[in-house]
Amino acid sequence: MDAENILKKYFGYDSFRTGQENIIKSILSGRDVLAIMPTGAGKSICYQVPALLLSGITLVVSPLISLMQDQVKSLNEAGIHAAFINSSLTETQIAKALDFAAKGVYKIIYVAPERLESDRFLRFALSAAISMVTVDEAHCISQWGQDFRPSYLKIVDFIAHLPDRPIVSAFTATATAEVKTDIECILRLQRPDITVTGFDRENLYYQVEHLTGKQKDHFVVNYIEKHPNDSGIIYCATRKNVDTLYENLFKRGVPVTSYHAGIDNQTRKKNQDDFIYDRASVVVATNAFGMGIDKSNVRFVIHYNMPQSMENYYQEAGRAGRDGENSQCILLFSAQDVMINKFLLEKKEFEEMEEEDIELIRQRDANRLHVMEGYCKTTSCLRNYILEYFGERAKTPCDNCGNCHRNYLEADMTDAAKWVINCIAETRGRYGQSIVTGTLLGANRARLREVGATAYRSYGALEDVNEKDIRLLIDQMEREGYIVQTSGEYPVLQMGDISALKNGEARVVVRKFEEKEVPEARKKKARSTDSLTSAGYKLFEELRQLRLTIAKEEGMPPYIIFNDKTLIEMCVTMPENRQDMLAVSGVGENKFRKYGQRFMDTITAFSVAHPNSATASNI
Ligand code: ADP
Ligand code: ZN
Repeated sequence: MDAENILKKYFGYDSFRTGQENIIKSILSGRDVLAIMPTGAGKSICYQVPALLLSGITLVVSPLISLMQDQVKSLNEAGIHAAFINSSLTETQIAKALDFAAKGVYKIIYVAPERLESDRFLRFALSAAISMVTVDEAHCISQWGQDFRPSYLKIVDFIAHLPDRPIVSAFTATATAEVKTDIECILRLQRPDITVTGFDRENLYYQVEHLTGKQKDHFVVNYIEKHPNDSGIIYCATRKNVDTLYENLFKRGVPVTSYHAGIDNQTRKKNQDDFIYDRASVVVATNAFGMGIDKSNVRFVIHYNMPQSMENYYQEAGRAGRDGENSQCILLFSAQDVMINKFLLEKKEFEEMEEEDIELIRQRDANRLHVMEGYCKTTSCLRNYILEYFGERAKTPCDNCGNCHRNYLEADMTDAAKWVINCIAETRGRYGQSIVTGTLLGANRARLREVGATAYRSYGALEDVNEKDIRLLIDQMEREGYIVQTSGEYPVLQMGDISALKNGEARVVVRKFEEKEVPEARKKKARSTDSLTSAGYKLFEELRQLRLTIAKEEGMPPYIIFNDKTLIEMCVTMPENRQDMLAVSGVGENKFRKYGQRFMDTITAFSVAHPNSATASNI
C-alpha cells in the first residue's frame, strides 16, 4: 500500500496538503526531517502515515499527557494500534504496554520525554525495532523558546543509545530562526530535509480593538450575543479577570465555563471537558488553557488583554479554526495591558540560572513585549505584521483583517489633552464624562450652569473640536492612565498619573478610523455551513446530536468521532450507501465500520421525512 492509500483508508482524506507529501517521501527514503508548519496544517499525518509504512515502531516524543491521549484516541478510532507511555499510567500498566509493544502490537507509541531515561523503557527500546523517533513540539528543546523542557535534551542521548540510528523527524509550529537552529543542532539532525510551509492561516481573520476596561466587557457580551452558536475561547491576563468576566457572562445566560491555575484540579478538568465536549460553548481562561487541546471547531479566540509576545499570541489565537473554517482572532487592547505584562515579567522567577543568562532572557522578554505592542498599534495589515515577524516576506495587504478594512487617521491631541486635565482639576473629580465634555465644548446646558461649570477656565476651551473627538481623546487618556474613571452607578472622571504629560515628555495621539465599505460577501468569507439551506441546517443539527450521543457512549470528544466539516459534507452530499459515505472527507474505513450505518440511517430518515427539501444550495 502506498502513502495515498493509507491516507484514504485510515484517515478518509483524498489528498495530501501542501508540504505533507514531500515530508512523507523524505522520511520513507530514510532521511531526517524538520518540519515547521503552523497549527492546523496537519503535522500529525506527516509522521503517522509513514509510521504505518516503516517496518518497525515509531516513537513519538510529546510534551503533554492530554495531547498524547487525544492522539492515541484518534488513531485508535482510525483503526491504527497505538499506545502512550507516561506518568498517567501505573508501573504495572506501563509494563503491560511495553510487553504488548515488544510483541509488535503497536506501530506508534507516544512517550513522555522523561520516560526515555527509565531503565524499563530503555531495555524495551534496545530490544525493539525502532524505525523512527518523532519529536513533536520540537521547539521545547530550545532554551530560548517559552516552552523549554529540560527533559527534551535527553532525546539525543536516548537516540545515541539505540543500536541502529532510527530516522529522526521533528515537528513544530514555532518558526523563529533561533528555535529552528536549536532544533537542528541540539537534536543532531543528519542532513535533514527542512520544510517550512507558509505561516499564513487564510481562514483566520485578525482584528485589534483599542478599548477601556468597561468597553471590553461590552464588546465581549455584544460579540457573543451576535454569535450565539459559536464555540470560542476568551483569554485574560490574570485569574481575577477570568473570574470577573466569567461571572458577568454566566449571569447573562451564556453557556460559559472557566479555566485557570487557581481552580482545583478536578473542577478544572471538568471545565475543560465541558468545553471540549461542547457542553459549554465559551471558555474564559488564562494562558494555562489550551496546551494540548485539539478542539477543531473553535470559531473565535478573543484576547481580553494583550499577551506577552507574538509567539504566545499566534499560538493562542491559532487555536481558532483548526478545521479550516473561517474564524476570528480579536485582540482587545488597552495601555494598561502593557503595564500588567511588564509587572508580570518583572515577577517572573528564574531558578538555577546564571545572572548573565537571566539578564539576556529579560532583555528578550522586553523586546517580545515591545513587538507585541507594535502589533496592537500598527495601522497597517495585521496579517503581514505577523508574517514578517515570523520571517516571511510580506505580501500586499491581505484584505482579510480589521486594519485592511479600515482607514486610519492619527491626530496629535496633546494640547487638547491638557485642557481635559485642567477641566477635571476644576471639577475636582466630582463629575462624569458628559459634564466634562459639555464644559470643554462650552455647551449651553442648564446642568452645566447648575454645577457652576460655566465659570471654569476650561469652559469652551475646546469649542472648535467636535464632541466625538473629545470622547475619543478621553478614552485614549484613560487607556494611558492620565485619567481614571471610577466604577459604580455614577462613574466620575478623576486625575490619574499625569507626570509624563506635565513635564512635556509624552504626546497624546488619538487614532481615529472609519470602517471601509467592504462588500459583505468579501468581509465575511464563506463558511461551509453557508451552503446549507434551512433544511440542511436541521440535518446538521441532527447529525451533531447523533455525534454527541456516540461521543458519550464512547467517552470521546465529539470532534474525534467526526469533525464539523465532515458532518457538513454529509449534509451536502447525503450519502446513503457505503461508497458515497467513504467518499466524504474524514470518513475512513474503520470509522465507517463503527459509525457509518448510524449516520446513513439518520440521513435516510431525514430524506424520508423531508422529501422535497434541498439541504444545500450553491453560493
Ligand atoms: P497540527 O498538528 O499541524 O496543528 P493536525 O495534525 O492536528 O494539525 O491537523 C489539523 C486537522 O487537519 C486535523 O483535523 C486533521 O485530521 C486535518 N488534516 C490533516 N491532513 C489532512 C489532509 N491531507 N486532508 C484533509 N484534512 C487533513
Ligand atoms: Zn490585512
